[in-house]
Amino acid sequence: MVIVLEKNIRDDDKNRIRAFLEKNSLRVNEIAGDEETIFGAVGRVGIDPREVEILPGVQRVIPISKPYKMASREFKRDNTVVDVRGVKFGGTSVSVIAGPCAVENREQMMESARCAAESGAVMLRGGAYKPRTSPYAFQGMGEEGVKLLREAGDAYGLPVVTEIVSAEHIPAMIDYVDLYQIGARNMQNFELLKKVGALGKPVILKRGLSATIEEWLMAAEYLLASGTEDVILCERGIRTYEKATRNTLDLSAIPVLRALTHLPIIVDPSHAVGARDKVSPMALAAIAAGADGIIVEMHPCPECALSDGAQSLYPEQFEKMMRDIEVLAPVVGRSVSRRRLPTMPGAAPVGSPVSGSKPAAARDGKTVCAYSGGRGAYAEQAILRYYDDGALALPTANFREVINAVIDGRADFGMLPIENSLAGSVYENYDNLALYDDIEIVGSVTLRIEHSLLACKGASIDGLTHAYSHPQGFAQCVDFLDKYPSWKHIETDSTSGAASLVAASGDLTKAAIASEVNAGIYGLEVLRSGIETNPRNYTRFVVVSRAGAVSCPNPNHATVIFTTENEPGSLHGALGLFVKHGLNLTKLESRPIQGEPWRYRFYANVALPEGVGDSVVAGERVRAALAEMEKISQDRGVVQGVRVLGLYNAKEV
Ligand code: PEP
Ligand code: MN
Repeated sequence: MVIVLEKNIRDDDKNRIRAFLEKNSLRVNEIAGDEETIFGAVGRVGIDPREVEILPGVQRVIPISKPYKMASREFKRDNTVVDVRGVKFGGTSVSVIAGPCAVENREQMMESARCAAESGAVMLRGGAYKPRTSPYAFQGMGEEGVKLLREAGDAYGLPVVTEIVSAEHIPAMIDYVDLYQIGARNMQNFELLKKVGALGKPVILKRGLSATIEEWLMAAEYLLASGTEDVILCERGIRTYEKATRNTLDLSAIPVLRALTHLPIIVDPSHAVGARDKVSPMALAAIAAGADGIIVEMHPCPECALSDGAQSLYPEQFEKMMRDIEVLAPVVGRSVSRRRLPTMPGAAPVGSPVSGSKPAAARDGKTVCAYSGGRGAYAEQAILRYYDDGALALPTANFREVINAVIDGRADFGMLPIENSLAGSVYENYDNLALYDDIEIVGSVTLRIEHSLLACKGASIDGLTHAYSHPQGFAQCVDFLDKYPSWKHIETDSTSGAASLVAASGDLTKAAIASEVNAGIYGLEVLRSGIETNPRNYTRFVVVSRAGAVSCPNPNHATVIFTTENEPGSLHGALGLFVKHGLNLTKLESRPIQGEPWRYRFYANVALPEGVGDSVVAGERVRAALAEMEKISQDRGVVQGVRVLGLYNAKEV
């Protein structure tokens, strides 16, 4: 039964209710929600709900009518989000797991992981213990296979999932597996379910070959009742009279399950259809039907596969399927989870960290902050100013690499330019902030930018034909550049990159627009300084870290993103909430949402008011405005994707 507690229940009443239930042999789970706190009580012995209803502090009692209790929607109204080392199932985004049917050797696994990661999978699969129909078929590599799976996953930053067929294998698996899979053939192996559930780790529970939805949920109940809270249901096709496909994929199970359970639901189109040409259409159909994720077989050489080759996608087919999912997901209100964005060409870290600093691996407990560009970049100066006690500045090739370094753990923080007072927003970073959902803004710093024209020793302004800089460098010096209309402008990834290029060329006709410090670093001459159009030229940088890694005790700023429906008054309604909660909106930016022509994502910067109490109170105001936004989004669907990018302290320099 579900016991809804009174809003301001006293602790001793709560303890008394729990003790009463436990005395009656019921197991009690407390679920604290935004609106109400409930006790879920399950057990074999039935007690009269009226006996519970009269206890002080109880608002109402709802008996669970279904045979499965903890798995039921009645037990928990909100969807469960299963988080496997940062990969989420059951939230707003869909997560894709890919890899071969079975682990066969190191090379095959490494190649599988590479293809999976490059095309956007967020988790790697591979069977090490294979439940084969024939005892003469390949049975899997066992313990060695589990280790190879892990090694390949680690090499590409992917958590791993593999099937467990017997509790005997737990000791061989426990140190390597992030997510256990109970296969279709073992769905009703109740002893196995109990043992795996007791590990308290996340589990994928595949639907049995001929299991009804109720039997499937009863199997999930075994896992939940044994101790894990993280069960993902996987529809993988059922036995019917139809022979054209290996099984019949029951996509109607998705909406049926949605109503019955709070557990996330993923789909395995590979084992359902049994032939690779039918896999992608069914994966897309599953996303359209509301699946929280896909698990799919992909092999670098399906013809060579030791099992399920015929249904394994070629890497190119997987890549195409991922691109199609990317297009389809927003149509049904979902995004696609990603761990790392594809690395851009030439994105290997450039140079080594700034002098006196060491790579992240040898950081001696010092803070490491990544930035785009090499020695002399403005972001490097921002790092030096932001960290009073010094930090190691880690140069990377571009903005995405900054974020990747933060996600990888090579850096604790990343320094990203977000807007300039002359040239405006750095759109690329606005987009990056929305694309990666595992980072957040934890700080901000404003730096005065003074540009200089730098060239090799012996050069003169009149002899120049080419100017090198980052597009922002050019944009901030338009008035100066207008005086030299014949110069060709060559864009570089960073201003420091422009300086190093010019220095390396030794060419007296080339100059770089960059900070004066680069003259010393690269042995260049300052031909002109202060060439920015207006001396009041500032760039605001944001400091990012992995989500949840740091918390800012005294935030004075917040950045929030949200999307509105293209409908009269929807943006007005969203912004009105900031006014209503006394929040000072300091900037509003909009960016097109990729793949959804003419829909926009809004970024709102909010200065948290002073003098209204402490920062906790200020933070509460933001949360109150957001909670209301979220409510509107649920009620009318006009505001969506509300996300706090960060509550942080802005540091002016
Ligand atoms: C598998 O995922 O490799 C597998 C054997 O799946 P199922 O249990 O759905 O047949
Ligand atoms: Mn298989």
